[in-house]
Amino acid sequence: MPEARYRGRFAPSPTGELHPGSLLAALGSWLLARQANGEWRVRIEDVDPPREVAGAAQGQLQTLAAFGLHHDGAVEYQSRRDHRYQAALEQLQATGLAFECHCSRSELAAANGIHRRCVATFRRPDPAIRLRVPDGCTITFDDAVHGRITQRVDVEVGDFVLRRSDGLWAYQLAVVVDDADQGITDVVRGADLLDSTPRQILLQRALQLPTPRHAHLPLLLGADGRKLSKSDAAFPVGVADPVATLHRLWSLLGQPVLPAAAQRSAAAFLHAAIPAFQLERVPTDGVPASAATHNANPARHA
Ligand code: GLU
Repeated sequence: MPEARYRGRFAPSPTGELHPGSLLAALGSWLLARQANGEWRVRIEDVDPPREVAGAAQGQLQTLAAFGLHHDGAVEYQSRRDHRYQAALEQLQATGLAFECHCSRSELAAANGIHRRCVATFRRPDPAIRLRVPDGCTITFDDAVHGRITQRVDVEVGDFVLRRSDGLWAYQLAVVVDDADQGITDVVRGADLLDSTPRQILLQRALQLPTPRHAHLPLLLGADGRKLSKSDAAFPVGVADPVATLHRLWSLLGQPVLPAAAQRSAAAFLHAAIPAFQLERVPTDGVPASAATHNANPARHA
């Protein structure tokens, strides 16, 4: 089978219901995949059982379906992919790029939690495993919304965790292994992950995996100006009225009003939205969730 030219994905963590910010990312990612005539995969990122909420994954999948955001292929679950993360970790250890770290959080506090060398005074029975980030390590990539992004990974992040001291896989490792195994060509997600991207690119290079294209969509902000982390009273993600919610998210993505026919159903909205979506209109700054009206057209931040 030929490789897909465009394969996007949505990768929620099953920590609760889909909040408006996640739905915004899902919508943008779905629209770009459909516009490119590509595929759109869904992956449940359930590598952190302590944070998981029973039934959340099922609820998230039902919400996507209610909004007409249908996916291709089977849903992947990270909890079933231990062996793949283990293989990647062993590859990094074999090449000396990953190392056991016995440092405690309090020992690293003096360096703002940024690990550059081990300062542990005790050997722990349960060391974390980190990726060694070389001095001067600078990663640059072009984001389709934010333009050129550069991060000094050694200074801003340091040696980062691949497997936690509690034995759980770190998000950074799991996401890189999964995106490669699933043949993802385009990562479209919330801007809260913009500063994780250089770490992921570094890991892709270390594991000799391809780096996908990236587009980071704006975060929705609550009344306090902070990231809207769950559905709030001002913006419930009810499945009772998906059409109104889709129009609101569309407006928050900086897109102009769609023809009246798009009001009829979620399917009619999506049908009109696929060809009309313009990534260059997406704002780069976070947008207040309360800003959306059907007529609003937030100006792009210069
Ligand atoms: N699971 C992550 C989240 O829900 C998203 C991961 C990704 O899109 O790379 O925030």
